[in-house]
This record gives sequence, C-alpha cells and structure tokens, in this order.
Amino acid sequence: MHSVAEKLLKILDLEEQTGYRNQAVIGGLDKLAEHWLKEAAAAYPGADKQPLIRQVGDLLAVYPTRATPEGREEVVRALRKTVARLEEGSAEPAAPQPTPAPPARPTPPAPPQDKPRPGLGLDAPVTRLVGVNTGYAEKLEKLGVRTIRDLLMLYPRRYEDYSAIRPIGTLRPGEQVTVLGQIWDVQSRKSQRGMHILTVTLADGSGTIQATWFNQPYLEKQFQQGRSIILSGKTDVYLGHLVMQSPEWELSTDEAIHTARLVPIYPLTEGISPRWLRRVQKRTVDYWAPRLPDPLPESVRRDAKLMDLPTAIAQIHFPDDKAKLEEARKRLCFDEFLTIQLGVLRQRRNWRQQPGRPLHVNAQTVETFIRSLPFDLTNAQRRAMDEILHDIAQPQPMSRLLQGDVGSGKTVVALTGMLVAALDNRAQAALMAPTEILAEQHYRTISQILEASGIGKDALTVRLLIGSLSNGDKERIRQEIQDGKANLVIGTHALIQGSVAFQNLAFVVIDEQHRFGVMQRATLREKGFNPHMLVMSATPIPRSLALTLYGDLDISVIDEMPPGRQQVKTYWLAQRERERAYTFLRKQIEQGRQAFIICPLIEESEALDVKAAVDEHHRLQTEVFPDLRLGLLHGRMRGDEKDEVMRRFRAGELHILVSTSVVEVGIDIPNATVIMVEGADRFGLAQLHQFRGRVGRGEHQSYCILISDSATPESQERLRAIEQIHDGFKLAEKDLELRGPGEFFGTRQSGLPDLRLARLSDTRILEEARRQALRIFERDPELTDPEHALLAQQVREFWQHKGDLS
Ligand code: ADP
Ligand code: MG
Repeated sequence: MHSVAEKLLKILDLEEQTGYRNQAVIGGLDKLAEHWLKEAAAAYPGADKQPLIRQVGDLLAVYPTRATPEGREEVVRALRKTVARLEEGSAEPAAPQPTPAPPARPTPPAPPQDKPRPGLGLDAPVTRLVGVNTGYAEKLEKLGVRTIRDLLMLYPRRYEDYSAIRPIGTLRPGEQVTVLGQIWDVQSRKSQRGMHILTVTLADGSGTIQATWFNQPYLEKQFQQGRSIILSGKTDVYLGHLVMQSPEWELSTDEAIHTARLVPIYPLTEGISPRWLRRVQKRTVDYWAPRLPDPLPESVRRDAKLMDLPTAIAQIHFPDDKAKLEEARKRLCFDEFLTIQLGVLRQRRNWRQQPGRPLHVNAQTVETFIRSLPFDLTNAQRRAMDEILHDIAQPQPMSRLLQGDVGSGKTVVALTGMLVAALDNRAQAALMAPTEILAEQHYRTISQILEASGIGKDALTVRLLIGSLSNGDKERIRQEIQDGKANLVIGTHALIQGSVAFQNLAFVVIDEQHRFGVMQRATLREKGFNPHMLVMSATPIPRSLALTLYGDLDISVIDEMPPGRQQVKTYWLAQRERERAYTFLRKQIEQGRQAFIICPLIEESEALDVKAAVDEHHRLQTEVFPDLRLGLLHGRMRGDEKDEVMRRFRAGELHILVSTSVVEVGIDIPNATVIMVEGADRFGLAQLHQFRGRVGRGEHQSYCILISDSATPESQERLRAIEQIHDGFKLAEKDLELRGPGEFFGTRQSGLPDLRLARLSDTRILEEARRQALRIFERDPELTDPEHALLAQQVREFWQHKGDLS
C-alpha cells in the first residue's frame, strides 16, 4: 500500500474512534485536503486515478459540513472505498509494515460515492448516490423510488414557508418563523427520566429566544457559543420566555435546505427522516436536474410560456420563491396533461379512421320497446337514447360515454341500441360488466324486460358468458356466439378472451367503464368489424376529468333521476357507536327489511380483504346476530357460490349480506334498506356513493351508516360531504377538490392515469395542454418528427403502463 493511502486510513481510523468530531487532524479534515492531494498525485500518476484523487478531495471538503455522526460516518465509508479503488491494480508494492493493518471493516454492499460514475444515467439505482446504501434504497422503494429519475420525481407534498427571517424581538407565541442569531449559551442536562435535554439561547440584537432539543446529544458539537445558526419552527412561551421546541436548524454558513427558505416536505416512510431525504434530494437535484433532457419542443415551451424541465425540477424541490414554485408546478402539470392528451387524441384518431357499419334504425322497433316498459323514460334518458341512435346510423363507429348517476336508468338506454342491432340489422350486440355478479344481474333483468315486453320473441337469443360456467357450457355458448345464434351476449371480461369470436358484432356496451382499462375497451372493439361502442359509467365526472380520461369519446349525460326516488339518509358514526348501528339494523330487519354490511378495505391484498370479511362474518353471526341468517360475499368465492348467496339474499332467505367491496357496483335488491360501511374513510367518495346506491331502490326509506374514527381532517371533511351531499356530480367535484383523481375512484382498479402533481382542478393548464396537443398532433400525429422523439417515448411509456390495468 502507498504510504499516502495508509496515512489517510489511519486518520480515518482515529476519526472513527473519537466519534467523528473532525478532530483527528488539527484544523479539521478539510485542511488535510490540499497537501494530501499533492502527495497522492505523485504517488498515483495514472490518468485513470485522477478522478479518484479528486473525489477524495471532494469528500474531505464535504466532511465537516456533515452535521451528524451518521452523516460523517457515511463520508468516511466513501473515503475508504475510494482509497481502496486507488490502490486497485496499483503497481507499487506495499510498504513494509511494522504492525499488520487493522482488520478490514465490513463495508456496506454499495458504498456511497460523491459523484455518479460517468456513463451511469438517470436510470441508475439510487444506491449510486452519496449516502444511499441498500438499506436506504429499500426504504426509498416503499416510496416508489428505485432510480435517480424516480427520486427526482418524488415531489414534495407541500412546503413550509420559512423564507422570511424575522427579528426575534418581533415574534409572538404560536407563529411559524425563521430566525437567525448568534449562540449565546448552550446548556445540556438530563431529565429525571434520563432524557438528554439541550437548550440553546440565541440572540440577534432585537431579542433572545431559547431552543430545546431532546435526546440529540450530538447536536452539542454543532452548537458552539458564538456560532451563527438559523432556526425554523413554531414559537411558544415557557415560564415567560419565548421558546422553540426541536426547531429545524442550520449553520448560517451552509446553503439553506431545512430553514430560511420554502422548505420541501416530502412523503416519508419509516427509517427515512425529513432531514436525510432533503439532503439527498438537494444533492441529487443539484447534480442531476441540469442533466435531464427536456422532451418539450422549444416552440411549444415558448408558446405555452413554460419553464424548461431542469429548472422546473430544481424549483419544485427547492423553490427560490412562491412564484418560481408556481411556474415549476405549471410546467410539470402541463407535461402530465400533455402526455395524456396525446395518447387520447391518437386513440380517437385510430378509431375515427376506421370505417364503421351504419345500422338501420327502425323507429317502430324503438317505440314498441319503449311502450312495453312498465315506466315512462325520463327526458334525459330519451335524449341520450336519441344521441346513440343517431350515432349508430353513421358510417363511422360510435365512441360514446353514457354517464348517469346510480339508478338513473342507463341499462334500458343501452338495451335499446342492442335491440336495434339484433332485431333491425340481424347483427350481434354484447354487454361487458366488470364482475360476474353484475353480469348475471344484467342477464336476469334484460331477460325479464324482454320477456315482459314480448318483443322479438323468436328473433332474440340472450346468453351469459362468464368465467365460472362449466367448460361445456362455455364451449356451447362460444359456439352460439360464433354461429351468430346468440345475438344479445352479456358477460364479463370472459368476452374479450381470444377464444371468443363473434360472427357479426355491431354494437358493444361496456358497463361501469372506470373498472376497465383503455386496452380492454380496445380489445372488445376488435371483436367486431369496428362495432359501435357505448361505455357507461355511474361515476359522475367533471368536465376536466372527462376530457382527460375520455377525451377520445363523445359524451351523453343522464342528469335526471326517475320520479319518486327517495333520498338515502346517511349517518357517520364513530366506532364506539357501532352498537347503535346494530340495534338499528335489527329493527329494520324486524320490519321485514334486509341489510348490507361492508367490511373495511385492506389495501395490500385481496387475500387479506377476504380473510377480514370471513372473520367479520363469523363474528357478526356468532356474537352480534346469532338469531339471524347472515350471508357472506367476497371476490375469491366461486361464481356458483356467489350466485347462490345472491339468490338467497334476493329471495329474502338471508337477513344480512356481509361483503367486501364487490357489491359496490350495480347490485339491485329493492328490499334492502340499510347499508353499513366499516372503515368508511378507506373508500373514495365515489365508492361510498356507489355503496349508498345499493339501497333506496325500493319503496322503503333507506339508510347508509358509515363507521369511521377518521383521523385526518381531510377524511373527516369527506365523510361530512357524503352525509350532506346526495347528488353524485356534486360529490365528484368535492372529492376532486379534496383528494385529486387517483383516490376519487378508490385506489384500486381505477383505470386512471397516474397524475403525480396535476389536479383536475387545474383546468387552465389542462386546456392549454389540450390545445398544444392538438397543435402537435395536427402537424405530426405519429410523433415521428425527431423533435418529438422524447415526447413519443413518454406517451408510449405512459400508455403502455395503463394498458396493464385490469
Ligand atoms: P343504473 O343507471 O344505475 O345502471 P339501472 O339501469 O339499473 O340504473 O336502473 C335502475 C332501476 O330503475 C332499474 O330497476 C330500472 O328498471 C329502473 N328504471 C329505469 N328507468 C326508469 C324510469 N324512467 N322510471 C322508473 N324506473 C326506471
Ligand atoms: Mg347499472
């Protein structure tokens, strides 16, 4: 080993033994740098060694700026590693040594390095970064961060505004402030319980303030008398003094990261501290943001008046001021919206370009059907029906979204189109539902409606195709579909499997659209010769969201409920009031009604969900309602088991149906009057509204009871909203405002684009993005222009990812 290397390692050993106080060298390790570098340059003349030597210099310079022993330990580890690499393949023989070298310390698997190695890009794992070992990498992964790029896209959740430094003399208790002053006094003591308490008195000429930290003895080394420091935090009074407890702090000579600025507040996970993450982000952003390629063509950027991407990323993490932050957000939201819009426009174009089959619409058939119904259609239903019938008579395939609140009567509207296809055009129509239960229900009601109406008795063959049928039955039905004998086909995604071939599919309906991904829409469409397509959603969607999610579709809205519908009374109860809810349920059941109990959603896995439901069903049956008949429904049951439970519940043989969220959509049991939802804060507002739509479908007053000890103010506000708001549209707006679109549909199965930063309330940015997308699209629809290469890649990745949703 070269003596220069040995010398450094000895110093590092000493530093480690003395607790990383930066005292192993007089004046501090950074003072060593200049001299050491000269010696090293002579000892390791190879050109390949020079970057390593520079790196040692950098690390030595960084060392004193690390505030914690942990931070310094990291640097020491990096130094050891660098020295080891300097020695690698070095020709000079090791100098004779009087004593054997100390045993090698265990080095972490991926020791940090000051600068990323050249050639390793943004997609390198985060372990390449200083201070991120595999332990930290695992923790970061919980935040969805694997690569350096992911880290750059881990945006702050919010910011603490510590930008204005205030004179201490002007402070009042209870303010969030930043102060800059000189340390007058430092005291440390042990409390009776053995807690280490450090108190620092800070003065700035206008007054003094005391700051206290608990169990952080290492801070004492930082807080030396006479030093200038910055504190940010909340003021308080204690025994008449102005105080701050555990404020954020920084030496006034350091670049402010934690104080005296708009301080980023990141999402955290166990083992990741705010200070640690901020430091890592700062280094990452400083080095990597300028190296980010900008996918936006210059012309678009100028026209839409947007920041460049490196600046936007830098500013979103460590904003210079609020205006810059706003600009950065605008740029990043714009990118998200633009990607979606470009994808949606391409989809729309692909569909529009195809020739479609114009269907003959016989007004007679339609009128006869409508007259046969046991009720009058609402005006809104009629309007939607007219729009659909107009579209399907055109030579381009229809792509229409039919949107209407729970119970607004979408099914008959869709059925009309299906009848036109089957009766007037001798073609086939298919309806795809997201769950077997729902598909079965559609099958039943459609069969009933047709039977009662007596329409097309001999000409119609209704078939149900779901996964849980016996193989024999499936085969038979597939055959009938292929022959064209089955002309009204209802099913689940079993319909879009490869083995299903329609003879003549002309009209396609997809129910509860938000459960299906874009790709599934496309697959069902491919089953026919560009069939007309109607997608239905009970989720009322504000315009901005519709433009985002369904920019490729035309929209019909049923904004009117059939007359005589009652309002479902909704109550939010705390856990300890659960007994009251049970008593209430029991009363309803004594009056001959039935009830649903929905088990809490367990996000991690369906298996856990199922287990929770099984346990809850057992508890309710044995401990709470031993004298009543309870059924259980969950997603892991076989189709025939589900069917049997639903049949018994529908027939009134079961008093209570205990279920996971699978009953969310579409189920229609008029005698059920109570739905009780456990863990209500776990569900999105749209989902809760859907649950509520399971009751109030008959003549009896109905109730929705939400059980939650909701912790956050935000979920409290949501529960209050659903207590008060009964209009699905208004609820949707409210939820978007409160939580953004991801949660709006519930976290699972949303089929929604992943918006990190953008809110659908950002309508101005959305519309600008739509405008720019149209401009780009008009000139270069395939995005083949080299100027659009990065953009094309972005769109591809985004939409590929969405295709995986099922
Ligand atoms: P959704 O829009 O939630 O799918 P459905 O189509 O299932 O609603 O209709 C809910 C119930 O309302 C069904 O029982 C249906 O027969 C009934 N219905 C539909 N339209 C009307 C109407 N115009 N008047 C009265 N009842 C109606
Ligand atoms: Mg429905």
